[in-house]
Amino acid sequence: RAKRDGRNAYRFFTSEMQAQSARALQLENGLRRALERRQLSLHYQPQFALDDDGQSRVVGAEALLRWQHPELGWVSPAEFIPIAESSGLILPIGEWVLREALSQLRRWDAAGLPALTMAVNLSAVQFRHDDLPELVGRVLEAVGMPAERLELELTEGAAMDDPTMAITVMNELHARGVGLSIDDFGTGHSSLSYLKRFRVGKLKIDQSFVRDLTDDAEDRAIVDAVIRMAGALGLQTLAEGVETEGQLAFLRRQGCHAVQGYLFSRPLPAEAFAEFVVARASAADAPLSVFAI
Ligand code: C2E
Ligand code: MG
Ligand code: MG
Ligand code: MG
Repeated sequence: RAKRDGRNAYRFFTSEMQAQSARALQLENGLRRALERRQLSLHYQPQFALDDDGQSRVVGAEALLRWQHPELGWVSPAEFIPIAESSGLILPIGEWVLREALSQLRRWDAAGLPALTMAVNLSAVQFRHDDLPELVGRVLEAVGMPAERLELELTEGAAMDDPTMAITVMNELHARGVGLSIDDFGTGHSSLSYLKRFRVGKLKIDQSFVRDLTDDAEDRAIVDAVIRMAGALGLQTLAEGVETEGQLAFLRRQGCHAVQGYLFSRPLPAEAFAEFVVARASAADAPLSVFAI
């Protein structure tokens, strides 16, 4: 009987695995057409600087990729980005993201929004690709955006995979004036000795440390240590996934420079993002004239 149960469990396991790989295959095939069929879009999550006077203001946007699959509906980037990476599709998709995000920034400028920074996520595959710095330079020039308005987000894994190469690429991007940040900081295996050699300006504290900040003394200790270390290295800090006033109060007290999270706003389509920025500016009684979005 035990044997039969075992065999059933095995059969269940394989059919589940088959279903998973069938979905992965369906996603990969779908992804090949997604760009030309205009199923990809970007949402933008506002990033806030925490000012000394207790205020917060929108200083940037993070571009987050969205995919509406014709049969499966919205597919999470956490699911399709790895497939885009393993299939190589991340290269054309990543280039599209860069171009689209910077074009949107230009439209916001033209509409009279304050000069924001655009944060774009970079996959390790893009980072390793030979002509990344040239590509970034080309897109900036084509769109007509100064490099200082772009910030590329890189995970620790992408940087630590080949630290020597990472330093070279970071130096090239830095020389062009592009900002760099380490995304999901604390979840990967970054070596602190490399941190000072990486040309990054900002650490994004991963949301897993922010989530239980108000009840978990260890998370508070970690976040506090990251903020202090960043300060000593001359790096900015941005906390991700801020959902409560309690988390915000702690981060402010410890001297975290910036935040993003559902407490302020979810990622929004471009028009809604612009409306959000304008509404906040007028609520803060700092009128802003916006004539076209
Ligand atoms: P990430 O870059 O760390 O982005 C933050 C994720 O946290 C986003 O999920 C965002 O929607 C979510 N988030 C923001 N605030 C909160 C909050 O207060 N609470 C919670 N629970 N979540 C919050 P999303 O959009 O599903 O993206 C997931 C990941 O997919 C991103 O993590 C990034 O690694 C990747 N990704 C998204 N867009 C791109 C892209 O254009 N290129 C590449 N290479 N990766 C991307
Ligand atoms: Mg990110
Ligand atoms: Mg992150
Ligand atoms: Mg992440």
